[in-house]
Amino acid sequence: MPLFFAKQYIMKTSIITIGDEILIGQVLDTNSQWMASHLHTLGAELMESVSISDTKEAIVNGLNHALSFADLVIVTGGLGPTKDDVTKYTLVDYFQDELVLNVNVLNFIKEMFDKRGIPFSELNKNQAMLPKTATVLPNKLGTASGMWFEKNGKIVVSLPGVPYEMKGLMLDEVLPRLRKIGGFPYQAYQTYVLYGLGESSAAEMLEVFEDGLPNHIKLAYLPAPGRLRLRLTGKSFDKANLDQTITNLGVELLSVFQGYSIETGDLNYVDWLKQYFVNEGKTLSIAESCTGGKIASEITAENGVSSFFLGGVVAYNAGLKQSILKVSKETIENHSVVSKEVAKEMVLGVQKLTESDYAIATTGNAGPTADETDETVGIVYIAIASKTSLLVERFNFGQPREKVIEQSKNKAFELLVKEILKNH
Ligand code: ATP
Ligand code: MG
Repeated sequence: MPLFFAKQYIMKTSIITIGDEILIGQVLDTNSQWMASHLHTLGAELMESVSISDTKEAIVNGLNHALSFADLVIVTGGLGPTKDDVTKYTLVDYFQDELVLNVNVLNFIKEMFDKRGIPFSELNKNQAMLPKTATVLPNKLGTASGMWFEKNGKIVVSLPGVPYEMKGLMLDEVLPRLRKIGGFPYQAYQTYVLYGLGESSAAEMLEVFEDGLPNHIKLAYLPAPGRLRLRLTGKSFDKANLDQTITNLGVELLSVFQGYSIETGDLNYVDWLKQYFVNEGKTLSIAESCTGGKIASEITAENGVSSFFLGGVVAYNAGLKQSILKVSKETIENHSVVSKEVAKEMVLGVQKLTESDYAIATTGNAGPTADETDETVGIVYIAIASKTSLLVERFNFGQPREKVIEQSKNKAFELLVKEILKNH
């Protein structure tokens, strides 16, 4: 018998991450964020997300609480073979299940250890002791299997804490199963980017529009430096109707800002750049000083970039700027490393070194310095070179260091997009 009969059903969900390391601030709980975004995309409604201690008592309390309102509880962590990992034993007790040897999992783990040349111990064999009644979700990337318990129409899923193992199990096992159960409403959204108008001014102009929004449509304000993103989001089981409503509301929203600079679509320069470079067959290289590799790191965070991204040089040191990027010693002496001239020579240097079509360079002072009077803290020069153009701009991103680096990176992507569009 299927668990859920009603098609029009919003699955109330709770996330529990287990681990003392999270509670003492040693590990940042990234699992919740990743799972929340995937569950939200699926159409589940996340009611609560909590982190708890590695103890049996905390896990039982957490489950009791979550199951008092949620239909689905996803738990991560505490599935390792060591004594401090108690999640499996607690869950098996909680659901009055029992542990039995799962031969498939045992063979898989043995094979995995064999391939890596690691001796197999009794402790590892424990990882193949799994609940008899619950569904075992095979983990291709580690020894801790996922487990799917069902009781009184509610679901509890237990996943390993290691982020890549959790992600693998969510993508391969959990999300497909949830999709099959169904009952998730269709979601639609449309984003607009408004330039040169602050959040409160925009909100005033949108007052009548917002008051007239139907209950199932929400308007979000997402401010970014120099621009404001406006996002219309809707949830409904009637896809055609929802799409039409969002389209109509979009036309209405655009008419509110007639005469202002507003664009339809989201503001994601990196995705735009990837698409451009792949489609046009152009190449990119990067020379970074104050951003320390962050620009290259963001580009390579996802696959599919090797066809255009040639590479980057992190030339933090002045000597390295000279030896690798061929920035001249005189330029550094005359203008200092944080200067328009050095940014220009860095970008041309990396472009020549890699023979790329486009290049980015950053040089700046991300601070902080011991001397509070240092006026160069926050000053960053960003250079963009193409085969036919060269642009260098100066920015003051202020403080603290983290913000200077983040804004330099975002600005570099934005300038590259603008430079590409100028050349077309
Ligand atoms: P293991 O077999 O490694 O013991 P496990 O299922 O017992 O797996 P944990 O011991 O809870 O998982 O965590 C393993 C590692 O995964 C932790 O050291 C931590 O770095 C990371 N981790 C655990 N929970 C999270 C989380 N919520 N967010 C991000 N990282 C996490
Ligand atoms: Mg562990």
